[in-house]
Amino acid sequence: MTSIATLGSHCALQVLKGAKDEGFKTILISEKKRENLYRRFGFIDEIVLVDSFLEIADKKCESILEQNNSILIPHGTLIAQMSSEQIESLTTPIFGNKWILRWESDRSLKEKLMLEAELDVPKSVRDPKQIKKLVIAKRHGAAGGKGYFLAANEAEYNDKRDKLIKEGIITGDKDLYLQEYVTGVLAYLQYFYSPLNDKLEFFGADKRHESDIEGLARIPAQQQMEIDQVQSFNVIANSPLVLRESLLPQVYSMGESFVKAAQKLVSPGINGPFCIEGVYDADANFKTFEFSARIVAGTNIYMEGSPYSSLLYDVPMSMGRRIAREIKKADSANQLDKIST
Ligand code: AMP
Repeated sequence: MTSIATLGSHCALQVLKGAKDEGFKTILISEKKRENLYRRFGFIDEIVLVDSFLEIADKKCESILEQNNSILIPHGTLIAQMSSEQIESLTTPIFGNKWILRWESDRSLKEKLMLEAELDVPKSVRDPKQIKKLVIAKRHGAAGGKGYFLAANEAEYNDKRDKLIKEGIITGDKDLYLQEYVTGVLAYLQYFYSPLNDKLEFFGADKRHESDIEGLARIPAQQQMEIDQVQSFNVIANSPLVLRESLLPQVYSMGESFVKAAQKLVSPGINGPFCIEGVYDADANFKTFEFSARIVAGTNIYMEGSPYSSLLYDVPMSMGRRIAREIKKADSANQLDKIST
């Protein structure tokens, strides 16, 4: 019997609830400090306690997962806490394509894949001396927006970078990727691609609430000018977004070209959930600044299904449950190798 496992953070509750709804045994790898939280939920069958998530690569942890025929569902915490090499060397089967997670963490690979998918990507700026318009400086990996900042010119960039170095958040220029800042309506587009039937499903959209950049808009400009602290884009929460229906053809075509590009550049492609993240500008054109090659925490809003998933499924279908359904279908057709790596 296959079981479903994940790390205790990010979207673990959604993933394991969805797995239970589809009849799977559920396993959570939890840091000891979070045990109390996760013991509250009856749909978690087994909790493997660790001091640090890095222990998931240890023999002890891997053999528990092996005995349970577990498939590990990767999410943002796995990427934030482990290097690409560590993730790639895990022996536990990982849902989707573990090789593409490296393309999410590495900003240059990320840009390459977005361009291959012919997404409209804001220009990146290689050298701070070349900053001519407002840019956003971002850290590599799934940092969740912490330590990101805006700069309108080289001097402002240097000043903010130095502050972050002092605070120990970054070590230098090499930790940062500069991209043109785009204004408009931010949207995070959630998809699921099934290699079993070669079908793309648009699952929902969300917006993120980021601190403390959001707080800045709540105070008058005069007080904003006096703030000396570097603002950050630390994600605190998500809320639902429903798009104008006329935007949906483009949503699907972006998703489909992303699937094609991923199949071309990172075999076996983008299987399972992913997210295209960007900004609708004044002409409703979507500028893609980022993608996530696995389930995003924004799907947590839709534990009972989203406006879009309810058009595709007759039962409440969260992204977590959709993943479990895919595993169930692959398992019964003896095709687990098609949906995991
Ligand atoms: P990311 O890690 O790329 O998802 O960026 C974190 C946050 O920074 C996003 O949720 C946006 O609020 C903001 N952001 C990133 N890139 C851009 C961009 N090019 N233009 C405007 N906002 C951006």
